[in-house]
Amino acid sequence: HRILVTGGTGFIGRVLCPELLNAGYQVDVVSRQKPEDVRAICGRVTPVGQITDIGERPGYHAVVNLAGEGIAAKRWTEHRKQVLRESRIDLTRKLVSALLRQDTLPQVMISGSAVGYYGDQGDTTVTEQTPPHDEFSHRLCADWEKAASILAEKGVRVCYSRTGVVVGADGGFLQQMTIPFRLGLGGRIGDGSQYMPWVHRQDVVNAILWMLSEESARGPYNVVSPAPVTNRTFTRTLADVLNRPALFPVPAPVLKLALGEMSRLLLTGQRAVPERLEQEGFHFAYPELEPALQEALGK
Ligand code: NDP
Repeated sequence: HRILVTGGTGFIGRVLCPELLNAGYQVDVVSRQKPEDVRAICGRVTPVGQITDIGERPGYHAVVNLAGEGIAAKRWTEHRKQVLRESRIDLTRKLVSALLRQDTLPQVMISGSAVGYYGDQGDTTVTEQTPPHDEFSHRLCADWEKAASILAEKGVRVCYSRTGVVVGADGGFLQQMTIPFRLGLGGRIGDGSQYMPWVHRQDVVNAILWMLSEESARGPYNVVSPAPVTNRTFTRTLADVLNRPALFPVPAPVLKLALGEMSRLLLTGQRAVPERLEQEGFHFAYPELEPALQEALGK
């Protein structure tokens, strides 16, 4: 079976691609990077320079769509917000029109989204049914999902991975978060009561593989651990795993001043639970935070 992956060189994709190869897929990776760099990151995949280049190829069995500019990489100016939207929504639209031009449509597409879909939810338990709160992250994810839903209208089985904060080795949120902790300068963010719907990277990859093979899976899935914790608990657990103190809280006003609207990523959250994954029989390798952090940090 042939599979097309966008964002395959990223934090999630670089673990997903070798697993797809192991599972026997022929993997094409859409990337802006040099072909040799893509192979160095992803393994024996076939790099594709432009989405429009797939037009001449025969159809794919499946598509995994993860590309997008880093949400937490830069301050959310109006220009940056546009870049965040275009790198997901416009790219997904181009992907969908290229797939529609092929001889056969894919049977399944797993398309990226995030728990930011729900906006700030305080301590409400958030399932796939929870009505979203309208803010930038909601519109970004909703429009991203909508761009992919065109394929669902054509009969393709489309799943949306509403992913939480991914923890894994070498990169992602944890890499940024551990720097102050390793220096003994870590602490909770704001009052620490906001929820952090964390998930281990291996469970994200396993959930994508599960959605690919589970013929009845379609629609949105919260890809988060079954045990969401508050920022305070996350912070304490991280400090324990690193064997460092967590004495220095970062006050909310300081963060707002430093990060502007992007501070919402850290100061607000969702007590999101993987209701559908659990009901439909998916098993988490890392349901609890401490073992997940120990693995991610090589402890
Ligand atoms: P990364 O930021 O690590 O990688 C995303 C990939 O997208 C990059 O490797 C890059 O591929 C591609 N990309 C970036 N900018 C552009 C652009 N302007 N145009 C085209 N391609 C671009 O993402 P993750 O692996 O961490 O996450 C995958 C997806 O899941 C992302 O869209 C992210 O928003 C979402 N997600 C991630 C979470 C996390 O905690 N990691 C949480 C929730 C959602 P290349 O350089 O090869 O072109």
